[in-house]
Amino acid sequence: MSVFDNAAFRHHNSVHFFSDEETGLQAIIAIHSTVLGPALGGCRLVSYANSDEALQDVLRLSRGMSFKNSLAGLELGGGKSVIIPPKSWGGDPGFQGEGRAALFRAFGRAVQSLGGRYITAEDMNVSVEDAQNMALETDHVVGLDVSQGGMGDPSPLTAEGVFLGMRACVRRAFNTDNMEGLSVAVQGLGKVGWRVCESLHAAGAQLIVADIMPETTARAARLFNAKIVDTDSIVTHEADVFAPCARGSVINDETVNALHVKVVAGSANNQLSRGELGKTLMERGIIYAPDYVINAGGVINIAPEAKGQVNHEWVNNKIKSLEDTVGEIIDTSLREKRPTNEVADEIATRRILDARDAGKAWQPAFLKKPALRQSA
Ligand code: NAD
Repeated sequence: MSVFDNAAFRHHNSVHFFSDEETGLQAIIAIHSTVLGPALGGCRLVSYANSDEALQDVLRLSRGMSFKNSLAGLELGGGKSVIIPPKSWGGDPGFQGEGRAALFRAFGRAVQSLGGRYITAEDMNVSVEDAQNMALETDHVVGLDVSQGGMGDPSPLTAEGVFLGMRACVRRAFNTDNMEGLSVAVQGLGKVGWRVCESLHAAGAQLIVADIMPETTARAARLFNAKIVDTDSIVTHEADVFAPCARGSVINDETVNALHVKVVAGSANNQLSRGELGKTLMERGIIYAPDYVINAGGVINIAPEAKGQVNHEWVNNKIKSLEDTVGEIIDTSLREKRPTNEVADEIATRRILDARDAGKAWQPAFLKKPALRQSA
């Protein structure tokens, strides 16, 4: 199928393929929209079965970034990039040997060649150190360490946004702000999930936890008096709230009718295996906080860097506003009997289209139209 006929390509601004023989770099950068500002979205390094699969992933993700950045009220468009691990690495994205730094420098040059239309950052299997290697070659990388003038680890901010967004859901589902005694099933106790548990425990919630790392769940049992369940049954475990903080597609055709909660609110990306399941959740009376809204703390944290700034106060205020944003989406959903994910997509799209229609679309200086030549 031609890329232009691919449904995921629709509305994309541009897609760029890069290769570098010397380092083995094979990368795709997709720019979905630059209406609200330069397209910001991370770079992931994944062993795809083939380049079609890599293309599909980057197109889907870059569109998602347009929605996420728009809904978070950022002056940023949406884009994303993927790197296919070189054959010399045995296809292993975690390869740490010689050549890794050079590959990320080559990727940095690719980003630089787009003149600031795309801003990259870390994502799956791409570390702060990899981003620092990109930064040797491009001005357009964010998510750098504090020591390098960056905003630092976004996970605590993401966790705070999830906690506040969850509170907005709880207020609507149980008519209270008080988390005391509320049972919350948390899947994944990583950088975000662990901090969400900390906040919930401090607020008096009862935790039910699952992680593939038994030492992590044992620690949660010790420190938070959490009940441990296995990684599959956590999804359908009876509780007031389910917080997916590990991986995507946990709400799918098999699990959607087996959920035993009133609220789904967590940090994982792409929680619904397909968008239509938002309607099933609504019909079951389950309040779902759309993933890209509630987990926007990470991108909010790096947004000042895209303007060459470090501004923790602005970030903290913006994270606090997530509670109202999630609440307004739920209120609209309840009032208009439309799934929360549909309401969120509509708000995000409208902001982009309004800016475009008002002639306020962002343009990098180098793309501005030249003045009309005077005819002789
Ligand atoms: P992480 O890698 O630090 O943590 C993931 C945790 O999930 C780990 O403890 C891992 O052992 C566990 N896990 C993996 N598979 C599991 C399974 N099947 N069942 C239960 N536990 C499992 O990642 P993170 O940074 O905490 O991010 C968690 C999720 O939130 C991811 O989906 C990520 O894309 C998303 N997210 C994170 C951020 C951020 O700022 N870190 C921002 C936005 C979205």
